[in-house]
Amino acid sequence: MTPDLLLAHYHEIGLKGRNRPRFERALRENLKRALGDSAARVRLVSGRVEILEPKPDALERVTRVFGVANVAPVLVARADLDAIVATAVDVARDADRLTPFETFEVRARRARTQFVTTSQVVNETVGDAIRLGLSKRVDLRRPDVSVRIEIVHDKAYISAAKVPGPGGLPVGTAGPVITLLSAGIDSPVSTWRMMRRGADPVAVHFHGQPFTDRSSEQKVTQLIEVLGRWGYRRPWWSVPMGEAQREITLSAPSPLRVLLYRRLMLRVAEGLAARVGALAVVTGESLGQVASQTLENMAAVGAVATLPLLRPLVGTDKVEIIDEARRVGSYDISAEAHQDCCTLFEPRDPATHARAAELDEAEAGYDLPALVADCLERAEPRPPP
Ligand code: ATP
Ligand code: MG
Repeated sequence: MTPDLLLAHYHEIGLKGRNRPRFERALRENLKRALGDSAARVRLVSGRVEILEPKPDALERVTRVFGVANVAPVLVARADLDAIVATAVDVARDADRLTPFETFEVRARRARTQFVTTSQVVNETVGDAIRLGLSKRVDLRRPDVSVRIEIVHDKAYISAAKVPGPGGLPVGTAGPVITLLSAGIDSPVSTWRMMRRGADPVAVHFHGQPFTDRSSEQKVTQLIEVLGRWGYRRPWWSVPMGEAQREITLSAPSPLRVLLYRRLMLRVAEGLAARVGALAVVTGESLGQVASQTLENMAAVGAVATLPLLRPLVGTDKVEIIDEARRVGSYDISAEAHQDCCTLFEPRDPATHARAAELDEAEAGYDLPALVADCLERAEPRPPP
């Protein structure tokens, strides 16, 4: 069956009143961007979205657009009982051809329509036609197939294959954030989670050049491509930090090095946040995962943040993060080896219980504002995916 169109639904919770048109516009724009040439038009219709003339890959693209609760290929009939019955039988026959089934249910709904027949009568009439016409059994508890009929205005949308969307809110509806993107497993997932809540991330990656190779940057370029399939859309920043790290190692106690690099990253991230109007900084930290992520160290590093520091993975287990990275599609890229700037000049004895005052004191040993300014100066913008 070539569907007449794809029909997408979104959750309406939290979208009441004045926020709703803004949300719907963003969803429509994001769908258009995700679909590109794979559909002719995207149209809002009474709390639903019609995707017209979908190409075969359109369905899969829609399942990566945040804000979509579910999507289904549908046939469209006139809002007329005979027309609905005929089309529903076609839909069921087609579903049977694709994956033979034994039992089914019919679920009709009406919204903003003059169509007078009740949903119950539609269910029964269509149910009888499929039962008798295709020799199938009705099972309302565990049907193999659900034939869904939505009657809206003067049209009926009929489908037998609803696919879940990713849920969440459209990218951009919450505002811009800076996301610290290493080449590891965690930060692509933390970025993805913030996108799912409507944030519009601008990624920044720090690398150890000239003391490391370009492997981490190359991985981040690929990770940005993967995030792009989920709606990441901004330019990103690549920041060479090797020289600044060398400066730090010259005067600071070695157990504090990694934490001082992190503080420098945060300050540079906030400098970039000011340039792009970002409202928060996101990291992939997870409590206790590594030495730099004890509560004490998070507090000591985070003490220099002036913007909200968001850590969407803070309470998530590594195993769960890895599962999510697989879903995002970032895992295989992240799992490749790379030269990491934080392991550059890595101490053998990293502090696990640093205090902010200790880090302040260490920072007094070098020209911190100059290092921040230098990193900001060297920051290179990279094109969006
Ligand atoms: P990840 O898998 O995201 O690298 P990780 O387990 O390796 O995380 P850390 O290396 O301690 O943890 O980093 C914690 C967080 O700090 C990262 O999730 C990321 O947000 C940020 N970060 C670390 N290194 C970099 C970097 N080189 N560039 C940008 N952000 C970084
Ligand atoms: Mg890392």
